[in-house]
Amino acid sequence: MSDRLVIEGCAIATVDAAGTEYADGHLVIEGDRIVAVVEGAAPDGDGQRIDARGCLATPGLVNCHHHLYQWATRGLAQQATLFEWLVELYPVWAHVDDEVQSAAARAGLAALARSGCSTSTDHHYVFPAGVGDLIEVEIEAARALGVRFHPCRGSMDLGRSDGGLPPDEVVEDRDSILAASEAAIDRFHDPAPGAMVRIALAPCSPFSVTQGLMTETAQLARRRGVRLHTHLAETLEEEVFCQERFGVRPVQYLEDLGWLGDDVWLAHCVHLSGEEIARFGATRTGVAHCPSSNARLGAGIAPVVDLAQAGAPVGLGVDGAASNESGALAVELREALLFARLAGGPAALTARGALALATIEGARCLGRDDELGSLEAGKLADVALWRLDGVDHAGIEDPVAALVLGAPRSVDLLLVGGHGVVQGAELRTGDEAQIAADLARQSRRLLERVQARA
Ligand SMILES: [Zn+2]
Repeated sequence: MSDRLVIEGCAIATVDAAGTEYADGHLVIEGDRIVAVVEGAAPDGDGQRIDARGCLATPGLVNCHHHLYQWATRGLAQQATLFEWLVELYPVWAHVDDEVQSAAARAGLAALARSGCSTSTDHHYVFPAGVGDLIEVEIEAARALGVRFHPCRGSMDLGRSDGGLPPDEVVEDRDSILAASEAAIDRFHDPAPGAMVRIALAPCSPFSVTQGLMTETAQLARRRGVRLHTHLAETLEEEVFCQERFGVRPVQYLEDLGWLGDDVWLAHCVHLSGEEIARFGATRTGVAHCPSSNARLGAGIAPVVDLAQAGAPVGLGVDGAASNESGALAVELREALLFARLAGGPAALTARGALALATIEGARCLGRDDELGSLEAGKLADVALWRLDGVDHAGIEDPVAALVLGAPRSVDLLLVGGHGVVQGAELRTGDEAQIAADLARQSRRLLERVQARA
């Protein structure tokens, strides 16, 4: 059987460097790669053909920040600031185990896939003693669903008794963290082209991690050739914490620890000065912009347009589902555009600019822009096909505007490495009803365990 697939009759936004678009074109895929992206009708030939009239083809979306386990703790601390929200949720997260992690990861990744996301990262930093390998559990979930996955081995080692925010029961000691981080790289990191799994290292935040762990994690990551990730400059409370504890602002703190660079991407970066934005650009430090989460926690609006103009890669993230109960990446496209305009006026960010954040810029954040993030011959066949001829979008002549400005919707077809993960707007690699039932059961079980301890 031929492994050739032709998607034809659709509009195409390639998101290549020239911004090439076709009103009517076709894509040819062989195996896990795109071999042609061309205007007009497809010639006759072997293989499966998909009639994509009424649709827009874009690169599969790239999610640059998440905490999948939080799918099991949604809807809590609804009116809280970041620090209030964390203080309420840490004791709940202390009871996460492999069953919770598995159900939450499958639910979160299913929601991402249905919203057009072909590559997701995850930042997992809660490792209660005595439960299984939670990184392995989420990698299994991603493998089962067929989503490309960049899990970050996160960590916290600064508990409340040492001046940190998290309670002591959810932090680990530095040696165990470094050993587990290296073990995750040994077991799961695939540096080869086309990789489905790559590991990054990700101490959690300035207020939950010691300087020593930050420094040693950066050394380990660079010795092993993996990327670095953490949260930064999310709220003004964090800025006050850094000033009081370290005597500097968050960006200076990170720079002093060797944490700015083109192998680093940072979540949020809401509160940056003009000088700090320039440092991000000069060092090519990436940013994961999480507009819904920032709005949910009332944190502020990140200066994404200024960061992008300075030359920093800026991708999008849904952030953990405890601070963005949606978890759909397609929604963040629209939020990014709207928030940029609330901050900078109607010309601040175009629909195409927003699409670039969700695709090629996200791929830059993860160091994968050589093979992900645009529809070009030779790149991996991670493709999202959006049906735009329904009542929500019909009549909008510009398909990119329909996708970004119109009502967010499920992707019609999602290919990851040429494999169909979503078809007919339904998940094909998992039973969504079963995933939802498992999530509800595990969320309830988690809260019952917390109440039993209270
Ligand atoms: Zn986060």
